[in-house]
Amino acid sequence: MEDGTRLSADAICLALPAHESSRVLDKNFSDLSHDLEKINYETVAVINLVFPAQGFPREFSKTGFFIPGNGRESPFSSVKFCGPEETGAWIRMKVFIAEKFYREVFLLEDKALLGKVSRNLEEQWGFPKPFWAQVERYWKAIAQYPPGHRNLVREIDSRVQRHPGLFLAGNGYRGFGVSDCIERARETARRIADFLNRK
Ligand SMILES: Cc1cc2nc3c(=O)[nH]c(=O)nc-3n(C[C@H](O)[C@H](O)[C@H](O)COP(=O)(O)OP(=O)(O)OC[C@H]3O[C@@H](n4cnc5c(N)ncnc54)[C@H](O)[C@@H]3O)c2cc1C
Repeated sequence: MEDGTRLSADAICLALPAHESSRVLDKNFSDLSHDLEKINYETVAVINLVFPAQGFPREFSKTGFFIPGNGRESPFSSVKFCGPEETGAWIRMKVFIAEKFYREVFLLEDKALLGKVSRNLEEQWGFPKPFWAQVERYWKAIAQYPPGHRNLVREIDSRVQRHPGLFLAGNGYRGFGVSDCIERARETARRIADFLNRK
């Protein structure tokens, strides 16, 4: 523990981002820690917006996902339309800005970032001014799976198996969607229970 206390356990599951598991395991599991560090995570800013439904462009007022073209005409990576809330009076929307692709925009302070994105939505896409807006930043949060990821995960799995009682869960390995993470968590919980029952 951070305060130097030692705890002993029959099994331990690290349900952390892979880079954090790498850091936690650092000293005594160097090969495993090294492999975990190879899993890249992307940093994103999310702008949550609420618009009045009245006057909102009809084609954008339903649930859906929008990824602008490759050019620089939009200062964001994608937009998720969450659709109208229960009363139908308001439209909720999330704008995603990946640091990797829009670093200059990402580095803007919240107010300037909001201004830039709202202006673009207004001028380019005909959106009204948002009624409410808020910026959130998620550091090294979304695991990236480049070609070769599956082999890397197999290698990690085989290294983990050399340490009975150690388990990994989280979005770094076999799917980063919430449902993937839940499925993996359930499967890991079953494996932990089997392991403990065999002891
Ligand atoms: C902005 C954003 C939007 C997303 N939208 C969607 C979506 O619409 N649909 C979808 O399916 N998926 C979405 N995802 C992906 C999905 O939400 C995540 O991949 C998933 O929730 C990750 O779950 P997890 O358990 O791996 O990690 P987390 O839920 O992040 O849990 C990891 C936990 O570990 C803790 N932690 C970190 N380091 C340490 C440490 N050293 N010691 C102790 N604790 C630590 C953290 O505080 C955190 O509680 C989104 C992700 C982001 C970032």
